[in-house]
Amino acid sequence: MLTDSYGRVATDLRVSLTDRCNLRCAYCMPPEGLDWLPTPEVLTGDEVVRLVRIGVETLGIREVRFTGGEPLLRRDLISIITATAALTPRPEISMTTNGIGLNRCAVALRDAGLDRINVSLDTLRPEVFRKLSRRDRLADVLSGLTAAAAAGLMPVKVNTVLMRGMNDDEAPALLHYCVARGYELRFIEQMPLDAQHGWKRSEMITADEIFALLSREFTLSPDSERVRGAAPAETFLVDGGPARVGVIASVTRPFCGACDRVRLTADGQLRNCLFARSESDLRVLLRSGASDDDIAARWRANVAAKLPGHGINDPSFLQPDRPMSAIGG
Ligand code: SAM
Repeated sequence: MLTDSYGRVATDLRVSLTDRCNLRCAYCMPPEGLDWLPTPEVLTGDEVVRLVRIGVETLGIREVRFTGGEPLLRRDLISIITATAALTPRPEISMTTNGIGLNRCAVALRDAGLDRINVSLDTLRPEVFRKLSRRDRLADVLSGLTAAAAAGLMPVKVNTVLMRGMNDDEAPALLHYCVARGYELRFIEQMPLDAQHGWKRSEMITADEIFALLSREFTLSPDSERVRGAAPAETFLVDGGPARVGVIASVTRPFCGACDRVRLTADGQLRNCLFARSESDLRVLLRSGASDDDIAARWRANVAAKLPGHGINDPSFLQPDRPMSAIGG
């Protein structure tokens, strides 16, 4: 098991398959993009699958979430998911994507073994989408969402980050849209993980504000049926249910005490927290003939050293060197 010194057990592995993305969301990347990882530094499909296998077979990983960057840009995505689904015990397999291209591959992803999907959608207005993501791809995202639902990847979850003066007036419209289609919407507080280091606490839309914005058009009640456990989202019933909405208050109501996650970057670095300031290099072990036991030992040591919290609210907080796109959201 992957246990830390505060008694938390990591069972949820987030695997970034690439740091590249076809959007340039303002809360994540500058308009010109970033210097991508050189291809030789990115783990091959076989290397990813080997690490996932060690996690699942030896270290107690029970859920694997593929992310990025944009995981749909990875050409060998289907074979990575197929190999992950063949592991014993079979982990839950999920993916976070911006949905571009999903309309062409949702069925293949499901057939390969993908169980659940989160699609990021911050606005329903094409001009806002263009401004926020610096690309004109809203129609592709919406058709990707439809395809995911048609492929049976239900309940499709939708991730939204609200930015003040950009899309914060759209919270109720997004919820109407998702409720009508059976998608579960989750608002994520904007975190200091943008490459530009432009995050300002005063500009962040807080969980309390999100609740107030939604309450203008919906009645939100506590969701007593769903046990939150290690889930980052606090969920509410919408107008008595069964529809739900989630709020991920990573900044104003951190849930580090229940965190069960560990992250692998596309270049094979292990991170025990989104905000970790150090990493453990598994790629160097993979490429120097290390045994599964050697890799498992470094992995255990990484998780054992996990800090009690992400520290965003401490005066001494320092943003990690890697932005969200290079860590894996
Ligand atoms: N490209 C995929 C996508 O768009 O979902 C996966 C990677 S993206 C980094 C994963 C999630 O992180 C998205 O839902 C995105 O909105 C969220 N995200 C990115 N930067 C963020 C930030 N600074 N604060 C909060 N969420 C952020």
